[in-house]
Amino acid sequence: MSAERVVIVGGGFAGLSAAYTLMQRGITPLLLESEERAGGRGRGERVDGFSLDMGAFVFTTTYDTAFRLCEELGLPLVRSQMKFGHHRNGRWVATTPDQSLVNFLRQLPAAVAMGFLSPAGMRSGFKVIRQMHRQSEYLSFASDSRLAVIDDDETYGDYLERHRVPDKVRVTLSGPLKMVLGDPEPAGQALMRAYIGETMLSDGVVYMPERGVGSLSEALADACADVTRVSTPVRKIVVSGGKATGVVTDDGTIEADAVICAVPGTRVPALIEELPEATRRALSTVNYSTGCRVVIGLDHHPLPEGWHGALYTEDDDVPLLLDRAMFLPACAPPGKGLLDLLIGRDRAAELIALDDEEVKRQMLGAARRNAPPGSALPGDDEGLFFRVYRWEEALCMGTPGMLAALAEVPAQLAGSIGNLFLAGDYMGIPSVNGALSSGCRAAEGVASLLAAGPD
Ligand SMILES: Cc1cc2nc3c(=O)[nH]c(=O)nc-3n(C[C@H](O)[C@H](O)[C@H](O)COP(=O)(O)OP(=O)(O)OC[C@H]3O[C@@H](n4cnc5c(N)ncnc54)[C@H](O)[C@@H]3O)c2cc1C
Repeated sequence: MSAERVVIVGGGFAGLSAAYTLMQRGITPLLLESEERAGGRGRGERVDGFSLDMGAFVFTTTYDTAFRLCEELGLPLVRSQMKFGHHRNGRWVATTPDQSLVNFLRQLPAAVAMGFLSPAGMRSGFKVIRQMHRQSEYLSFASDSRLAVIDDDETYGDYLERHRVPDKVRVTLSGPLKMVLGDPEPAGQALMRAYIGETMLSDGVVYMPERGVGSLSEALADACADVTRVSTPVRKIVVSGGKATGVVTDDGTIEADAVICAVPGTRVPALIEELPEATRRALSTVNYSTGCRVVIGLDHHPLPEGWHGALYTEDDDVPLLLDRAMFLPACAPPGKGLLDLLIGRDRAAELIALDDEEVKRQMLGAARRNAPPGSALPGDDEGLFFRVYRWEEALCMGTPGMLAALAEVPAQLAGSIGNLFLAGDYMGIPSVNGALSSGCRAAEGVASLLAAGPD
């Protein structure tokens, strides 16, 4: 048996930001990560001068904790305004979500294709978007977001129904979410509208570290390397006398004054038998989509000039296409391209069971069926290299009321299991920023607890 003041279980963005914050407060934690590398769903990979993101790949304008950490870790941010091609009604239209009237007029053909110019489309589309504008202070992914306040029992599907959104506009609003998340309609209206709001209300502008999300997880993992033990799964968090007192690993028990549990929400109940019933119920509202991603290095840009990505919102088996070198030029050597194909929904669950070659063949084949005009999608055997990433738990979707239920959890724990803190994307607004800010919050809680001394 060994003793540590603070043990952190899980080295994704939540666990890493907790460790980093504790070290800034002069507290040396021990971070235990089950995989061979820390970073979780935010990991990146370097291949032949290319920088790849394995999971998360985009920040929006409200990722305040992510921006602060990038600055502290010396990662410059670059601004990008996304221009997407949409395959609608058998043809391609391109959009930038700039909300100006001039841009709207310039994009009239796209507005028609997306259903915004029919009387019903205009009525409901504008109502939904106007309401998102009005609620923009709630529909945010920032660390102080009040999204939980407007999270209720209504599903996103019922919300669209209530606003009589016609099918064509429904596809426009839900389609991109469906491509990467799975069916958004059973999920909570607040979280799904926040996903849409984050991209539409900010005119498609994003701020990113120049070599992608993976470069932030790499920098954080480097900063925490001395306190991290990888390949060390935690089997159990020990609770004794109403307090978390340590963790059990395959090498034995480690005693601790405080424990931060930073694993995905679905895995928490198995680690902590003594969770109060109300917390178990709140955690049962957490669920994740499945994700499958193929990244292909190319000696050319794969999409039409100026496009960052292509969306097939009406097709069920076609991935989202991104030209990552267009989005973040520093991710590829000069003149090279990086095609990123990402799919969620049930299709991802089917694909992740296949071998790498087959996953690539099926995803590329689906994209090539209706390739954007002027694109140069690779053939099956083309490309400098490729990678396949499989995620059984990708993005947190949540059932209606999840955010409101989870907002009660810190108080439930404080009253029943002392010295235990939960962190993870599901404890913030589910995203990289939510994970990072939940880790920082948990670390602040631990620092106050230790400063208060033994009771
Ligand atoms: C394909 C994909 C695309 C995404 N796109 C975006 C995006 O564009 N923007 C965005 O904001 N978010 C995106 N996300 C979501 C984002 O990646 C996550 O919300 C965030 O990274 C979650 O961080 P976390 O620390 O909460 O959890 P995780 O990253 O899952 O970290 C948990 C860690 O705990 C470890 N662990 C689990 N069990 C144990 C145990 N028993 N003992 C020790 N360690 C354990 C795991 O190995 C893991 O490293 C995406 C995710 C995926 C998969």
